[in-house]
Amino acid sequence: MKNNKGILVVVSGFSGAGKGTVMKQLLQTYDNYALSISMATREPRPGEVDGRDYFFVTRERFEEQIKEGGLIEYAKYCNNYYGTPKAYVEQQLDAGKDVILEIEIQGALKIKEKFKTALLVYVMPPSVAELEKRLVGRGTETAEVIHQRLARADEEAEGIENYDYIVINDDLKECVKELHTIIRTAHNAPLRNKDFIQTIRKDLKHLSKGE
Ligand code: ADP
Ligand code: 5GP
Repeated sequence: MKNNKGILVVVSGFSGAGKGTVMKQLLQTYDNYALSISMATREPRPGEVDGRDYFFVTRERFEEQIKEGGLIEYAKYCNNYYGTPKAYVEQQLDAGKDVILEIEIQGALKIKEKFKTALLVYVMPPSVAELEKRLVGRGTETAEVIHQRLARADEEAEGIENYDYIVINDDLKECVKELHTIIRTAHNAPLRNKDFIQTIRKDLKHLSKGE
């Protein structure tokens, strides 16, 4: 039988490219997705809610989680830890949901190493001018932080070739539709249907021997 398990989908992108906006729209439009909520040691920003945006924890609690093997990946980003809790991801994949991890590139590459069938997608802005416009327009960062994030974007850009696909977030609706199509199509890749291929091959062997 064809594989009914969900796919692990990693979504990364420069700060301000629109990942959060695209994810929100994807989850509102389609019902086969589950968004993983990360654990983080940074302080919540105004308006952020514990258990919705992140599980905000102390450094001690985070280190305990690492020791207990409760995270599938984690990374240090600007002096804080960020990590993906294991239990939720496993439950949702088993339930057939495609699970989305919105994480930075170091974590993405660890996922790719650990889960050969994970799909890695990078959300790109249509241009750098538009990226800057969005970062400034969001109004949540100072000019200095925006500068840091643009510099970080330049560093990250080196690793984009490790991703399976890029999607350009120009028209939001188009971008969400395209991301959904990529994920649906990825279900049909041979590497995600090994059991099905094995079953067909076994049956073929029997049949060709006249069994
Ligand atoms: P990220 O999560 O990648 O840091 P956000 O989702 O916070 O980015 O988006 C950054 C800013 O760009 C927000 O103000 C958002 O409303 C805006 N934005 C996102 N997608 C688009 C789009 N397709 N067209 C125009 N503005 C967008
Ligand atoms: P922010 O502090 O702006 O919310 O997030 C900083 C960066 O950490 C972003 O690039 C975000 O995608 C990334 N991030 C969030 N959660 C995780 C996680 O669980 N693991 C990793 N590796 N990165 C994460």
